[in-house]
Amino acid sequence: MRAFMVSCKTKGEIDLMREAGKVVGQTIEEVAKYIKPGITSEELDKIGEEFIRSRGMIPAFKGLYGFPGSICISFNEEVVHGIPGKRVLQEGDIISLDVGATNKGWNADGAATFPVGKVSEEALKLIAVTREATMIGISQMKLGNHLYDISDAIHDYVEKQGYSIVTQYVGHGIGRKVHEEPQVPNFRQPVRGMALRKGMCLAIEPMVNIGTFETVVKEDKWTVVTKDGSLSCHWEHSSAITDGEPLILTLP
Ligand code: MG
Repeated sequence: MRAFMVSCKTKGEIDLMREAGKVVGQTIEEVAKYIKPGITSEELDKIGEEFIRSRGMIPAFKGLYGFPGSICISFNEEVVHGIPGKRVLQEGDIISLDVGATNKGWNADGAATFPVGKVSEEALKLIAVTREATMIGISQMKLGNHLYDISDAIHDYVEKQGYSIVTQYVGHGIGRKVHEEPQVPNFRQPVRGMALRKGMCLAIEPMVNIGTFETVVKEDKWTVVTKDGSLSCHWEHSSAITDGEPLILTLP
């Protein structure tokens, strides 16, 4: 039996996280305007960092566990944690932007995946399925449900679409720290887990692959890629549990 230390946030704390989340959503929108063949991921990172700082907030990932960038930018078969660098975006790539912002000590974390120019039908479907899997997971964030109802709903949907779900990386609680308890797996669990409570804030972030669910970490010790090199997609929102519908914190 594992004991969880899960904190429920107050209205005031959630307001601060919503402010952070708004900037996360706006940063993703802003950086996405520059997603075109020819730009480097390093340039996108700089645009994102400047945007977050212009709003008086701190890029939450900069230096987190030693991460060198402000935004995680992952290409194609890269699942998550891509380091911004000299790699140039090419027509047909898909690019995920994973952004965190800290507002007066409170965090929000969100991600989205975008096509670069014209991409394959398959890539577009993968993006649509991953986004929908996120929203399906969030829709389970209500009183009366248990933690792993979220996991089961995401897994069921992704599997029905014929894709696989990454199991080595999971969603998480969020608040004063970017990563808090509980972990939120995106795959089915043998039990329902803890009962959800008002004020719990969770980042739901399915990572969906066209091929195998298995992943490996590249030599840079950060970038996670699919083991078979197949395309991967990532989407994420931080949300708070309320008396009614979940409050999505990371919408622009
Ligand atoms: Mg996250």
